[in-house]
Amino acid sequence: PYDVLVLGGGPAGAAAAIYAARKGIRTALVAERFGGQVMDTVGIENFISVPYTEGPKLSASLEQHVKEYGVDIITGQRAADLKRAQMIELELSGGATLSSKSVILATGARWRELGVPGEAEYKTRGVAYCPHCDGPFFKGKAVAVIGGGNSGIEAAIDLAGIVKHVTVLEFADTLRADEVLVRKARSMPNIDIITNAQTTEILGDGNKVNGLQYSNRISGESHKLELAGVFVQIGLVPNTEFLKDSGLEMNRMGEIVINERGATSIPGVFAAGDATTVPYKQIVISMGAGATAALGAFDYLIRSSIP
Ligand code: FAD
Repeated sequence: PYDVLVLGGGPAGAAAAIYAARKGIRTALVAERFGGQVMDTVGIENFISVPYTEGPKLSASLEQHVKEYGVDIITGQRAADLKRAQMIELELSGGATLSSKSVILATGARWRELGVPGEAEYKTRGVAYCPHCDGPFFKGKAVAVIGGGNSGIEAAIDLAGIVKHVTVLEFADTLRADEVLVRKARSMPNIDIITNAQTTEILGDGNKVNGLQYSNRISGESHKLELAGVFVQIGLVPNTEFLKDSGLEMNRMGEIVINERGATSIPGVFAAGDATTVPYKQIVISMGAGATAALGAFDYLIRSSIP
């Protein structure tokens, strides 16, 4: 069995594996795809101490750094279930089971997508999901935010300080965000809020986004907006579906509940990054959380009675 089995090869998993391996304990990393969401990112400008990098380049460095240690790396494998017996057993969808004294879950999350024409085509070419990451690329331009919940209204307020104009499109007849955020957004001169708006298509010139089409759900009328960017803010879904029968405590959104050491409700099971209840989902934050979970797991192992 392993001492530490890390599930996930994004920033959280890579950091956890490096911190664990540096303690000289038997470490493995299992991931469907090394790099995680970073592989889907073009420009990264907030990875501190690196003014600019690109997703595939950062992913390659993560992998190279992990490979400098004696970590068993198993990619192309999905976890299907987790059980706690004497060891922690991680079942893979191919049928194999791996045992470990401790496990660090770092399976990340995925943005909920709109599913309209143009969205997939213009992803990273005007269709964005992370205002902290991509807001500055739209400086001085007009953008839309799809979704009027807390994340959508926060994104609109954040973006309004950078871009020229923000249009918020909400499907329902009212905004679901907290009143204080709605009041703040309404007070900003360069934010327009449109309710009952169903986004039907993201438009582009073949190279990048130049607008979107929405219909008014009451009148049925169709409208077109000219824009350079569309921020989709309709939720982040944690990759934790495979844990549903594990008994692990998760919140209403399916995020793994952790404490300040990265420990979960199951002894020996730790978690880090976007799959957890951490309030901010970012690369540097995930890396710090991965390091925390590995140190938490090491503390657990030196106190545990498992030989
Ligand atoms: P992830 O990166 O999601 O990695 C999850 C890992 O788990 C992957 O290896 C995946 O294959 C694996 N996995 C998932 N489920 C399973 C399973 N069942 N079995 C096996 N393996 C599994 N953040 C910034 O700080 N700056 C940015 O500029 C930035 N831009 C972004 C742009 C885009 C388009 C996106 C989508 C995100 C961006 N982010 C950015 C957010 C950042 O990428 C995430 O916060 C970060 O990647 C989270 O790291 P993680 O390790 O927790 O999870």
